[in-house]
Amino acid sequence: MICLNAVKAAILPPPMQEVQQVYAQLKQAKKIIITTHQKPDGDAMGAALGLYHFLQKLGHTVTVISPTNWAVFLNWMPGCNMVVDYEARKEEAEKIICETDILFCLDFNIMHRTKNMKKILTEVRCIKVLIDHHQQPQEEAFDYGVSDVSKSSTCEMVYDFIAQSPYKHILNKDIGTCLFTGIMTDTGSFRFSSTTANVHRVIAELKELGIEHTMVFENIYDNFSENRLRFIGNALLNRLDVLYEYNTALMAIPKRDLLKYEIKTGDTEGLVNYLLTIEGIKLGALLIDRTEERKWSFRSKGNFDVNVFARTHFEGGGHKNAAGGRSSEGMEQNIKKFKEILQQYEQQLQ
Ligand code: 5GP
Ligand code: MN
Repeated sequence: MICLNAVKAAILPPPMQEVQQVYAQLKQAKKIIITTHQKPDGDAMGAALGLYHFLQKLGHTVTVISPTNWAVFLNWMPGCNMVVDYEARKEEAEKIICETDILFCLDFNIMHRTKNMKKILTEVRCIKVLIDHHQQPQEEAFDYGVSDVSKSSTCEMVYDFIAQSPYKHILNKDIGTCLFTGIMTDTGSFRFSSTTANVHRVIAELKELGIEHTMVFENIYDNFSENRLRFIGNALLNRLDVLYEYNTALMAIPKRDLLKYEIKTGDTEGLVNYLLTIEGIKLGALLIDRTEERKWSFRSKGNFDVNVFARTHFEGGGHKNAAGGRSSEGMEQNIKKFKEILQQYEQQLQ
């Protein structure tokens, strides 16, 4: 006789346990890996490095592995020089992954967002922990975790993870600086609706650790190359299409612009936000002709849900008002498809 429960238990992994249960695993020294989504932004890198300093101080052997390279304007962050770029140092990274006891996955919730690391991260046998604030987590992939879309940033969640642990006293200026960076960048400098009273309380605590918020702001936002500024100017002047009938602004960046202005990872960050600065515009869509794919960024105001939009039409996802997607089709096909799809949303965008 087959016991159905037993079969079920064998097929279905146990549900993701609460992240607080991981504290017990941290009592003895462990080998730990922290990773994030590809092309980590301020929140992903801040969360990874904040947790890195915390776990190191607890006595663990910790490595941050990024699936790809990252924006140079993050290089000033404490510990950033220790991060392993998987694409550049694959063999070394895979050896560390295979030997790890615990894997922390930060600021993403579905393995394919780690690009070429997806296979090894899926296959490796170790304790897998999720800390993330995006919608629809792949819960079955993780043993422990917390997924909370109401949180401003993964950095706020790493702060909670540390503050709720028995080791809050370990918080220091380096950890605070890393966590502040992600909270600042993911809240659009404390302006998005995710900026709760709790966010401000956390920031007050980080300030008391001695963090220098002006230094962080200048390192992130006053650190452009001349080319990057001219690239933005050119994009605003020549690559913007305002579709007033849909309250939508579309910007499409061809490969030749990226080459002409020598655009590097991170140089296009923030560009999509200009689109929503036009009065009345509710949907901003940025399309970039990256070498390996066409990359979409979507931003919205109010109730228009770009997470659903990106998921439905462009193999993507994210948050209600900020999401991304991708396509293997060409630029022209993408623009045509986007304009056709918009017709379905005419009512919602009014
Ligand atoms: P961005 O437009 O800045 O690349 O991304 C906006 C938000 O959507 C971020 O929170 C990012 O993590 C998420 N996001 C971007 N691209 C993708 C994607 O292809 N899939 C999913 N699930 N989320 C994405
Ligand atoms: Mn984030």
